[in-house]
Order: sequence, then structure tokens, then C-alpha cells
Amino acid sequence: MNNSEGQPKKILIVGGGTAGWMVASLLASKWQGSEISLVESKDIGIIGVGEGSTPHLKLFFDAIKVTDAQWMPRCNATYKNGITFDNWSAIAGFESYFHPFAAQTDDAFTLPLFFRNIRARMQGHEVDAHPDKYFLETYLTRNHLGPIPAESFPFGIAYGYHFDSALLGQFLAEHAQNQGVNRIVANVAEVEVHPNGDLSAVMLSDGRRLKADFFIDCSGFNSLLMQQSLKVSFKSFKDNLFNDSAVVMPSAISSVLPVETRSTALSSGWAWKIPLRNRFGNGYVYSSDYIDADQAETELRQHLGLLEGDVQARHLKMKVGRVEKHWHKNCLAVGLSQGFIEPLEATAIALSFNTIAQFMQYFQEGKFTNQYEQAFNQNINGRFDGIRDYIVCHYKVNQRTDSAYWLDNAANANISDTLRAILTLWHKSPDFAGDMLKYKLMGSYQPKSWACLLAGYGIFPRLAMPQSFDCSMHQQELEALHDFIRRCGLNFKPHNELLTQ
Ligand SMILES: Cc1cc2nc3c(=O)[nH]c(=O)nc-3n(C[C@H](O)[C@H](O)[C@H](O)COP(=O)(O)OP(=O)(O)OC[C@H]3O[C@@H](n4cnc5c(N)ncnc54)[C@H](O)[C@@H]3O)c2cc1C
Repeated sequence: MNNSEGQPKKILIVGGGTAGWMVASLLASKWQGSEISLVESKDIGIIGVGEGSTPHLKLFFDAIKVTDAQWMPRCNATYKNGITFDNWSAIAGFESYFHPFAAQTDDAFTLPLFFRNIRARMQGHEVDAHPDKYFLETYLTRNHLGPIPAESFPFGIAYGYHFDSALLGQFLAEHAQNQGVNRIVANVAEVEVHPNGDLSAVMLSDGRRLKADFFIDCSGFNSLLMQQSLKVSFKSFKDNLFNDSAVVMPSAISSVLPVETRSTALSSGWAWKIPLRNRFGNGYVYSSDYIDADQAETELRQHLGLLEGDVQARHLKMKVGRVEKHWHKNCLAVGLSQGFIEPLEATAIALSFNTIAQFMQYFQEGKFTNQYEQAFNQNINGRFDGIRDYIVCHYKVNQRTDSAYWLDNAANANISDTLRAILTLWHKSPDFAGDMLKYKLMGSYQPKSWACLLAGYGIFPRLAMPQSFDCSMHQQELEALHDFIRRCGLNFKPHNELLTQ
């Protein structure tokens, strides 16, 4: 039954991982008219990985009115300016590059020169177009400076976080319950589907029956409601993205806390290194078609300099892809139950936030009917596919020749039309950023991110166009830019100091 304005009276969330408690917190803060319950299983537990975010986590906390100072210390959280990619490219001088988040502010000053110099380099001029030379966030990161500027500084920097995912879940669970969410600890044994196709109730293994008007599936890879009960089909990304497994282990933290995730390419995948206040979280994401779990664990230990017995490893399987519909009938899937793209750009929490925030908007605009279900599903599918394309690109353009894994990735013809079009623009267009806009290729990632990736790999195809570039000012311009960035940097505090404030 729905209340007077059509808003569902009873909402049941199944699953108490990060996704479930994010949804509960957001619903509780915006839809006070609904009675919200969350059921989670002690026996099944949560996935317990996922320790890096994009700036969307800040948007989420802003939406539920929680400040950094309230949640970060509780979750051993640190700030994140972006990701350094090591050893993805085999081109000399491009062994490493930094991918900053999109920042609308200082980019206005730095981005035009970056694009101009990329083009000049493609015209055959000897100019430095490595992305690390162009962005304030990169300077901050290399100098261990946090992303929060002095109040008088006119630009904002987009930043993400690193955090302990189990502690984040606990923090959000407490927050949501304080907002009135009812927590039920039990196993869902059965799901009742009404003859009209809607969900009507879930049966718990202790015999209780929980009815609701609207259901939210946050049951992780199980996808108990959306895939198992409503039979919504799953579109695998296995043809595009080979990685299906991960092994994770912690290591000792350094005294100076990095402000970045490091992502290092290994023989059959890549390893993350995420700084928390009390430890590094590490993991090797790999394809089990090329390496087995024992080999992956050994390679990760070698990479980290950790011996067997130093620390225990956890092995995980990943189901990579997405559901065809994220909203179907009276059910919404959020988190791993709706899909997962491997964690190279740490986008899962961003997708969960986008899903619930967009859903609330579409559902409300449609007066709590399914009027905008199709438009919503298209929107979320577009976000998933856009992120997939950006991640696929990291593999597609690699030039490593040291293993079958990297050779097969480079040779993989299973890329989307959109990614093919973006790569064609990079190779042919004199105005990459403008043409991305013109040809409506602006998806989940901005031209800045694509340019950081492609220039960061050292991919500068020779463009057939007039040699219009005046090289004589190049060094002075770069020096002026570096001076500007250095002066901006004076407004930022060391990361360690920021965290102890
Ligand atoms: C290797 C790896 C690395 C990752 N790295 C990142 C990252 O850096 N950044 C990022 O944003 N994301 C990352 N992720 C994704 C991230 O872990 C998840 O998106 C996030 O933890 C949310 O998970 P979830 O809540 O959807 O599922 P889960 O944490 O699996 O929670 C599922 C919940 O459903 C409950 N449940 C299941 N079945 C039942 C049942 N029958 N009855 C009752 N309850 C049930 C469980 O008890 C649990 O509470 C990573 C994932 C993997 C696999």
C-alpha cells in the first residue's frame, strides 16, 4: 500500500553491505514518509572489499549531511586525489602516469595547454605532453598534500577517499538506524512473487514473512530479488574484460600517508595499493584463464615483498557485467546485485550512489509509478557501459609483450562502437575534446580523463595536418604553468596534518 502522495509506505532493503546501508541512509534522509526496513544475514556476511572511491562518495555524504570529520576517523579513511598507473605502458618515458579526478576549477587554466601540446606532439613537435606535468592534483599528490585548500583559495579540488569498507558499513548502519531504519538480522529463505509480476513479500528462515510495497535488492552477487526471483537477465562483460578473480592482503602502512591509489600492472592483471590510516589494503585483480589462484597469490606476495605466513590472503571471484534492468516492477537493484565492473577506477560506490539518487528522482517525477522505468534503466545502463569502455581502453591500448594476457588484451576485438569511435578521434581528430562533444561521445568520462589515459600511455599518433605550432614558447609556457601550480600548492596542507586536524 502507498501513502497519500503515492510514496511507498513500506520499503524493504535486502542486504546490509555498503550498498544496502547507503540506500537506507539516503532514503531515510529524504523520504521520511516511508517505513524503511533492512534485512541482512549474519551467516552470509558482506563482500568486505572495496576501499577506494571517486568524488561521488563526498556527494553521498553531503546528501545525508555527514561531514568528513564525522565519518573519516571512524573508518580509518584517508583522502584520494586520484590514481597512479605504473607499468601499464611499455613506451619509454611513459612507465607511470597519474589520473586526477575531473576538477572544473583549475582545469580551466591547465587543460587547454595540455590539449594544445598533445596536438603539437601529434604534429611531430618535440613538446612534453605527459599528463603528469599539467595538473595541480598531480603536484599535490607527488608532494603528499591533501585536497582541501585554505579558505581563501578560489578553486575547489574534486577528491575521493580510501576507507575500511567494513567500518564504513558499520558507520552507515548506525547512521541509518539513528534515522529510523529498522534492522532485521535474518536469512531470506524465499521470495514471493505476485501473479502480476510484482514482489509481494520475503520469507525468512525463522518463519517470519516481511511484506513491503517496494523492494530494494542489495544482496550482493546473489542478486536474490532482481536476478533470482524476477529473472531479469544479466549481461556479462567477460568478452570485454577478462579479469574474474582477486586475491587481497594487507601490508604495513608508511609514516607519510599517500594521497593516491597505486595501480601496478602485473603478469595477468593489476595490483592495487590503497593507504588507510592503519594499513595498506592490497589486491591483485587477475584473469583465471591465464593464472591460477596460487600463482596469483605468489605474484602478489613478491610484488609486495611479503612472505607466506606474514599475512593471510583472501581469494575472491568477481561476476563482471550488469543486469539488463536495474528497476523492474516494484524492485530496484543497487550494488553488486545490479552488476560490477572490475575495480580499476573504483567506481562501484559511485554507481550505487547514482542508481539510488537517480531512481529517487525518476520515481518521484513519475508520481511513484513506473512511468520512467525505461528511461531510468537506459540512463544507468549508459553509466555502466561508459565506465566499462574507459576501463577496457586501459587493456586495449597496452603495448606490453611480456605475457599472453597482455597480448590477448591488445588484440581483443570485442570493444564497443563508442570506444572504437573515441579511439578513432584520438588517432584522427585535430580537436579531440571538441569532437567528443560534437559526436555525443561524452559518457562517464570527460576528455581530460581519456587524454590522461592515452597521453599517459605515450600514444601520440602522427596527425596529418598543417605544422601550425610555434615551438619557441613551449618551455616558457610550461614553466609558467608549473609556477602557477606550485603557487596554488602553497594553499594545501600535508595530508598527514589534514587527517590529524
Ligand atoms: C575485488 C574487489 C575490489 C573492489 N574494489 C572496490 C573499490 O575500490 N571501490 C568501490 O567503490 N567498490 C569496489 N568493489 C565493489 C564493492 O566491494 C561493492 O560495490 C560494495 O562493497 C557493495 O557491496 P554490496 O553491498 O552490493 O554487497 P555485499 O557487501 O556482498 O553485501 C550483500 C549483503 O546481502 C546480504 N545477503 C545476501 N544474501 C542474503 C540472504 N539470503 N538473506 C539475507 N541477507 C542476504 C549479505 O548478508 C550482505 O549483507 C570491489 C569489489 C571487489 C570484488
